[in-house]
Amino acid sequence: MSQHQPEPISAAENRARLRRARAIARRTGFNGRVEYRHVFSTSGGAQYGLGLGPIADLLIVYADAFQRDADPDDFSLEAIIAHERGHQVVCRHPRLQAVLSGSPSVVSEEILASVVGSLVTDSADDRESLLLKAMADAVQCGMKLEEAARLVWQIRNHLEILL
Ligand SMILES: [Zn+2]
Repeated sequence: MSQHQPEPISAAENRARLRRARAIARRTGFNGRVEYRHVFSTSGGAQYGLGLGPIADLLIVYADAFQRDADPDDFSLEAIIAHERGHQVVCRHPRLQAVLSGSPSVVSEEILASVVGSLVTDSADDRESLLLKAMADAVQCGMKLEEAARLVWQIRNHLEILL
């Protein structure tokens, strides 16, 4: 997607970014390896990779996550990482896998990951932006806004009990 690449940063800044990404990942409950790559991604700033077991899972955070974090109108680094932790929970939770593979449903992994993300963040702003993202994804799947809002709250209430 991005032909251009980020401005170079110092080794110290690189380490600081990795440290910050790791600290947030641990706070959200992410287990596995966390890496920082100073290139622009095509995945919104971070990517979750399923490993052979939870500690072999990989979270890669990219330069655009920090760029988005610096924009007050965009997702924070916390929200981006919480969403990826959501993917990890969804991939590793048998009940959630059952929900996804069950009857035809508009509930996608992407929606579930955002709702789980909203449950693992301490920030009210990040919670709200993740729930809005889940609703926007449901609308994208063809739902009306009110239906999408209802669906996302139902999932959230359900997951609050399940997780
Ligand atoms: Zn996602």
